Amino acid sequence: MADIKLQEKYAELALRTGVNLQKGQALMINAPIEEAGFTRIVVRKAYELGAKDVTINWQDDEIFLLKYQYASEKVLTDIPQWFVDKYLSYAKDGAALLNIKSTNPDLLKDVDSAKVAKATKANAEAMKEFRQYTMNDRMPWTIISIPTGDWAQKIFPEYDKETAKEKLWEQIFKIVRVDQDDPIAAWDEHNKRLENAREVLNQKQFTKLIFTAPGTDITFELPKGHIWKGGGAKTPDGRHFNPNMPTEEVFTLPHKYGVNGTVASTKPLIYGGNMIDNFSLTFEDGKVVDFTAEQGYETLKHLLDTDEGAKRLGELALVPDASPISQSGLVFYNTLYDENASCHIALGKAYPTNLQGGSEMSDEQLDQHGVNDSLTHVDFMIGSKELDIDGVTSDGSIEPVFRKGAWALDI
Ligand code: ZN
Ligand code: ZN
Repeated sequence: MADIKLQEKYAELALRTGVNLQKGQALMINAPIEEAGFTRIVVRKAYELGAKDVTINWQDDEIFLLKYQYASEKVLTDIPQWFVDKYLSYAKDGAALLNIKSTNPDLLKDVDSAKVAKATKANAEAMKEFRQYTMNDRMPWTIISIPTGDWAQKIFPEYDKETAKEKLWEQIFKIVRVDQDDPIAAWDEHNKRLENAREVLNQKQFTKLIFTAPGTDITFELPKGHIWKGGGAKTPDGRHFNPNMPTEEVFTLPHKYGVNGTVASTKPLIYGGNMIDNFSLTFEDGKVVDFTAEQGYETLKHLLDTDEGAKRLGELALVPDASPISQSGLVFYNTLYDENASCHIALGKAYPTNLQGGSEMSDEQLDQHGVNDSLTHVDFMIGSKELDIDGVTSDGSIEPVFRKGAWALDI
């Protein structure tokens, strides 16, 4: 059993620094039923902090898999309105959302990938209105992870499930700074560091970033008025929250029509219960025109075929190779962890908040400013200790931004 004291600290950190729960606010939690004990701690702490109501959407990998094995495609793609309304009613009530993610990365590996793609797309379509709340910072939300047996064993295959979970708890506590005396103060300091990096880049307003590494030679044009974010977000009424725990990234958006060259993945991508590994994408004027994958080619193809926007990019994030997650030397097979170990980009929808005035723009205006739209948003990792990044300034001069996976700017 993982240290209960540390679990309590972790729960409190997720509620205070993560969603920044307020007195009288409702809280919705998506949580794995396999580790219900941790969620019960979160619920107790939430009420102690003054939550008016806490609702849980329990998630069970085994039952989720059974549905894919037995339910018809029609059932899988017909998302009931009550399901959507539940989320919307909490969002409209100003609730906070805590996502506890711990999915077995191989869960759907034997299910037809076309079926998974259709169900994923139907779900994204149904949740479009709700996603406006999270992607525009209209409600406080956060994603954290806790160990479950299958996931932990994927990372530590040499151990039995219980030991693997212990090992993973240890890593998680360290990476999210729960092992420190005052995790909340440690996060305040960490957020300040990320905010500083973000400010430096916002001042620079590079027009382009050029990435070079083995298998990678690509230029990302950055839209005029792009904003670097990182170190947390703010709701419209100014309350700070951290959408991801851990987070080590500063991120902005590449111009949806301004990406040219080839980029190689540096870590596996888990998508739709399947693994895509050792893949590369080639872009012309922002659109994927060619791709390869040693593993998961079909899954990658389905992802790119989700819609027009899935072939373009919506995020560009910088993470130094010295990040604590990268230093653990582990591959977590979980995007929340792996993306914070590495520079990454995302296929699909961009955050409108990454552009001056973006939150108030119409779809057409967003398009004109190079802000991508899609039903999907999937991060994948392209950073390594061999990555160099150059920034092009508005007068055309070139400045080193990253050298050998580390900041070359004064950050
Ligand atoms: Zn990111
Ligand atoms: Zn992302």
